[in-house]
Amino acid sequence: MTGVVVAVDGPSGSGKSSVCRRVAARLGLAYLDTGAMYRAATWWCLDRGLDLADRAAVAAAVRGMDLRMGMDPEAPGVHVGDVDVAAAIRTPEISGAVSALSTNLDVRAELGARQRALIEAERTDGTSGGRGVVAEGRDITTVVAPDADVRVLLTASEEARLARRALEVHGTADAASLAATRAHVVGRDARDSTVVEFRKAADGVVTVDSSALTFEETVEAVLALVAEATGLEEVR
Ligand code: C5P
Repeated sequence: MTGVVVAVDGPSGSGKSSVCRRVAARLGLAYLDTGAMYRAATWWCLDRGLDLADRAAVAAAVRGMDLRMGMDPEAPGVHVGDVDVAAAIRTPEISGAVSALSTNLDVRAELGARQRALIEAERTDGTSGGRGVVAEGRDITTVVAPDADVRVLLTASEEARLARRALEVHGTADAASLAATRAHVVGRDARDSTVVEFRKAADGVVTVDSSALTFEETVEAVLALVAEATGLEEVR
């Protein structure tokens, strides 16, 4: 038996990461945060003092990057060499710069190949012992794993996404935090969507709109899709 692959795409603030981690934990699957890979690549290039507009130099640096993704959904780590970059890749500086790498097609080819290899390894062995993986990002259902057993586009209204992000970043969703968040989130999604389509579902991809759902309800909705498509049961 080979493991299952659950692919989830969506814009920032859709709740993807927390929902995917919980779904993976409940099903005993590994978890792959592909956005963290783009963030780590951005950290690596900035750390080396590269001009992110120099596409060839950036692509070469990413090809040489020793990136280690921890795929345990309870504690998903990110290391570059021996450096733990889990916190460093979540700064506003990285969020503001990451689109320079995600719009570099040579970087996408390199990270996409690594993502496919990590996903493939989980189908037979890896963190999940061959049970499978939940992989999330912007192009997992369409480019990285279009043959996944379950393909989900997790969306939410712009209002709901901004409120969630504002709470996450500023600890409140008041008018000032919403305005600050809007500039960042809307700008990043607009830049990202020049290279990947994550706003409307491709053929065979099921849309889950979390605008009016709680976190737990969203998790249940994705679990139901996985159960329906694969018969996979919860481990606890
Ligand atoms: O999901 P997260 O917001 O951490 O992703 C960070 C960035 O990585 C996105 O804004 C996007 O530029 C890029 N990304 C991507 N393709 C993916 C995952 C993330 O281009 N599959």
